[in-house]
Amino acid sequence: MVEPSVTDVAAVEMLGVTKSFGRATAVDAVSLSVRRGEFFSLLGPSGCGKTTSLRMLGGFIVPDEGTVRLGGKDVTRVPPYKRDVNTVFQSYALFAHLSVAQNVAFGLKRRKVPRAEIARRVDEMLALVDMGDRSRAMPAELSGGQRQRVALARSLVTMPQVLLLDEPLGALDLKLRRQMQVELKRIQREVGITFIYVTHDQEEALSMSDRIAVMNCGRLEQVDTPDALYARPSSAFVAGFIGSSNLLRVRRTGPGAETAAGVLLPLPSDAPALPDGSAFDLLLRPEHLLLDPTGDVAARMEGTITDTVFLGSVTQYRVRCANGLELMVSEPNTSSHHAHVRSPGTRVTVGWHADDAVALPTG
Ligand code: ATP
Repeated sequence: MVEPSVTDVAAVEMLGVTKSFGRATAVDAVSLSVRRGEFFSLLGPSGCGKTTSLRMLGGFIVPDEGTVRLGGKDVTRVPPYKRDVNTVFQSYALFAHLSVAQNVAFGLKRRKVPRAEIARRVDEMLALVDMGDRSRAMPAELSGGQRQRVALARSLVTMPQVLLLDEPLGALDLKLRRQMQVELKRIQREVGITFIYVTHDQEEALSMSDRIAVMNCGRLEQVDTPDALYARPSSAFVAGFIGSSNLLRVRRTGPGAETAAGVLLPLPSDAPALPDGSAFDLLLRPEHLLLDPTGDVAARMEGTITDTVFLGSVTQYRVRCANGLELMVSEPNTSSHHAHVRSPGTRVTVGWHADDAVALPTG
């Protein structure tokens, strides 16, 4: 991807966009800016307003308040067919009576593109989505994954400025979905078109996106790169939604933090300066916790394993600590010969480096 310069006009902007259905606010004062050529995802639980946001970008819903811009132009009230935007839905919606090639050619024919050019562009697109050898097939003869590839080719062939994708892989089985995620990212990189992708699957968003907007109850929680969302979530909601987490409610006491049970814990060096006694959450990722650490660690707790789940590449433990806290710990199985799996009932020390904890404001 070419790094956009600061002077670049954003591909897509939402400025203070709000949409209510009756008394329910589906999208609440959302402002965001998507760069040209970016793979941008809207991620959040069911009902948080992802699809409504996407429909406002596509022109299918008009916001109650706020502005939508495409390539710097105000399109808030411009109908879908006059926007340089295509949408791919979960249901593939191919024309059943047209062949694969005719389905892909459809948008070009309507634009009266010359025949030879249509043939060339359709071939190119089908090769891109790896369907070059199925151009004469009818949609009924294709698998779900193949239909979704054709739907994608059909949406890309007119080279829109922006492609909106609403859970396009939702109907595929898990293995095919993971395979298509890699394919989608490759295709997006090759065509260089801005993709805006709606999903409730954090792994899907993390694996494909340049940046992700995490939504909760119609509002934007955080917009960031996948690694920044994981390493520096701005709220307990984001921390819980991206990856797995141990969240400990603590109070500031002098240089450290104290749990409700009176356990004193070290703070990360970048913790915000909060007045003594103020409450916040301490995030500890299961994979950052060490069992029976041998080196120098700032925090240690004694406990007993209550659950062990062997998952191949990692083993997950639930540890009940002597001070009443319960921690999830994830340990990589790095040796191919034998994994050192601890049984429930084993006494352990859980330790961590102070800077592996993240201090979060309470929700
Ligand atoms: P999902 O992942 O389940 O599709 P979502 O994040 O895409 O969820 P939206 O479909 O945008 O969420 O819905 C946001 C809220 O707006 C929900 O509470 C939903 O019930 C409501 N809503 C959406 N469309 C309509 C509509 N046409 N009429 C009434 N309420 C609606």
